[in-house]
Amino acid sequence: MKYLPTVGLEIHSHLATETKIFCGCSTGFGGEPNSHSCPVCLGMPGVLPVLNRRTVELAMRLALRVGGEIRHRSYFARKNYFYPDLPKGYQISMFEYPLIRGGCLEVDTPGGTKFIRLNRIHLEEDAGKLIHQEGHADSYFDVNRCGVPLVEIVTEPDFESLDDISRFLNRLKEILVFSGVSRGNMEQGDIRVDANISIRPEGQKELGTRTEIKNMNSFANVVSAVSYEIDRQTGIVETGGTVVQETLLYDADNDRISPMRSKEEAHDYRYFPEPDLVPIVVSEEWIERVRSELPPLKDEFINRFKVEYMLPDYDSETLAASPDVAVYLDDMVKAGGDPKKSSNWVLGKVLETKIDINEFRKNVPPDELVKLQEFTDDGTISGSIAKMVFDDMAATGKSADVIIKSSGLTQISNRDELEKLARGIIEANPKEVEKYRAGKKQVMGFFVGQVMKLTKGKANPQEVNAIFRELLS
Ligand code: ZN
Ligand code: MN
Repeated sequence: MKYLPTVGLEIHSHLATETKIFCGCSTGFGGEPNSHSCPVCLGMPGVLPVLNRRTVELAMRLALRVGGEIRHRSYFARKNYFYPDLPKGYQISMFEYPLIRGGCLEVDTPGGTKFIRLNRIHLEEDAGKLIHQEGHADSYFDVNRCGVPLVEIVTEPDFESLDDISRFLNRLKEILVFSGVSRGNMEQGDIRVDANISIRPEGQKELGTRTEIKNMNSFANVVSAVSYEIDRQTGIVETGGTVVQETLLYDADNDRISPMRSKEEAHDYRYFPEPDLVPIVVSEEWIERVRSELPPLKDEFINRFKVEYMLPDYDSETLAASPDVAVYLDDMVKAGGDPKKSSNWVLGKVLETKIDINEFRKNVPPDELVKLQEFTDDGTISGSIAKMVFDDMAATGKSADVIIKSSGLTQISNRDELEKLARGIIEANPKEVEKYRAGKKQVMGFFVGQVMKLTKGKANPQEVNAIFRELLS
């Protein structure tokens, strides 16, 4: 007998906001434990949450990307559970009235486009972090993650293969990151996945008993865990057993699945409407504004770079690998930069700095880098000097103009000055001159190099070249 697996996913993604969903604390990752806290996210009695409007807009962006219905009125609910990672004793989430219903994600597969339907997308707050150190009886609690905004995305059980799962997750992540909804840092737990899995004999319509694997933070782990669980359930059924409905944890290091302790699993959430928050009311105008602000997706960038900017495939795809890098290049071109020269800067010196592009941008805005290129184009400075000026700009945040003026790096194109230097070099190197006149034209490189050395790179190499050719002819 053959068994068919049925898999549905629930994805939790952090939203790329600066502050938490119901208070003004930072969402920054890796802060000193408990430093991002206030009476609201510490769950003190008598304080009131205030919704961060930005979280609604980011969730709306996702809805517009997947064709979900943004409901004009939605409500928060309290999900009650007693676990020490939430100081309030409940999580503010959404239950009967989520912000978004439906939607669908198109996934390209070798067999054609597949459609994975979405059931709902809602807003909620993240819990804090419990830290258990090996060999210590105590557990520690870090509140920093408490109240970091999340969208929870629930799919229909539409996955027919492990490849579908992995393609779906990668596509979803691309949409989240390129739409500015999530930063998508997997190693910081920005995207976490739960999987619901059941199997049924081929030909049977009714779904089998399902199990749920919780809290996986790598897509590879999701695929291994689902694969493991399908095999496990098939083994049970084939030997005459019954699958028990339970919540499981996947141990990636040992490729093993174990049940969660039953106490953690005994859920009775007693959802009820959150009385401290007003309903979220979304107007058509608001939706249209968010739609008009949607940033381009990866494919749109690649297309723009190849077709409009005539950049090579390699440049286009490398630049579009990160939305922030793509936007930087795009802004250079919009500031009047030549696309290929701009691409050379970004893929070369800019990425070599290894500075986060948004940090880099603070010191070197795209239009400033375009100006630096213009100083090279009009002969004010040489290409090698431009690289030095670039390093200074990246380090200090000074403009190209200020650096060039203050340090006397302006290129020497003055004919008389260069000719004087060239004559001196010809006099000092009779042997090389002889070689050149005997037909060894490569010696030209030596001559030009000498002038560049004397002027510390400031001579205009084309000009120097021309002068030597004249003097030596
Ligand atoms: Zn707070
Ligand atoms: Mn959730």
